[in-house]
Amino acid sequence: MVHIVGAGCGTADLITVRGARLLGEADQVIYAGSLVNPELLRYARPGIPCHNSARLTLEEVLALIEQGEEKGWTTVRLHTGDPSLYGAIREQMDVLEKRGIPFDVTPGVSSFCGAAAAIPAEYTLPGVSQSLIITRMAGRTPVPEGEALSALASHGASMALFLSAGMLREVTEELLAGGAYRPDTPAAIVYKASWPEEQVYRCTVAALEETARKHGITRTALILVGDFLGDAYRRSDLYNPAFSHGCREAAGATPCP
Ligand code: SAH
Repeated sequence: MVHIVGAGCGTADLITVRGARLLGEADQVIYAGSLVNPELLRYARPGIPCHNSARLTLEEVLALIEQGEEKGWTTVRLHTGDPSLYGAIREQMDVLEKRGIPFDVTPGVSSFCGAAAAIPAEYTLPGVSQSLIITRMAGRTPVPEGEALSALASHGASMALFLSAGMLREVTEELLAGGAYRPDTPAAIVYKASWPEEQVYRCTVAALEETARKHGITRTALILVGDFLGDAYRRSDLYNPAFSHGCREAAGATPCP
């Protein structure tokens, strides 16, 4: 059995309760060592084999899983953040399925959530944006033409850019080419959200490259863009006393079960 588990974006206690339990039950762990906090391995039983997949190919990862299966082991495949974003899990799941190896997926706290908490900010502000675009600049992995950053930037929505901290001049060019963001639209660079060495730098779309250079940031950072980082927004209806809904019947506390 293989459990694909989201490790959360940094600090060890951001893993889910289920993820920590599965780690504690594992017979071997294969973790994405480039971004998974090694402190998470303390949830595993002492002495079990822990493999850093940063040094392995997909074939080698699968071979470790198969060797574990032959011994009746449970493998935890630990991915950074949430496995569904830039996690390369699909190619693993397809082979596992083809080989009849059962697996499941446990979600994790993605870095776009950790980065919002670090600021702290809300992506979906009434009167500002009700959408979050999660994307990246093309690198070795190409981005489909219809998802060019300049095209996505035509909406002016809240945006979280992964894997792009080393290409910020191009990011600014493409964001401005979209036409909806201004040079002074607020932006932020969040480095290692939730890690002890977390750093948050607020700037503008125009100043992204200069801000990153000044602080020596080239990787492990999220770029956040949009007026959700500004000061203006409309109050929500959800908690507005003038707006009633089914869930707000009686005021006052009820005892926790
Ligand atoms: N599955 C992961 C993303 C993996 S891709 C997730 O859900 O977060 C790796 C990229 O994620 C990095 O280049 C960086 O852009 C971002 N990233 C991962 N962890 C981060 C963190 N703690 N703080 C800021 N960005 C992070």
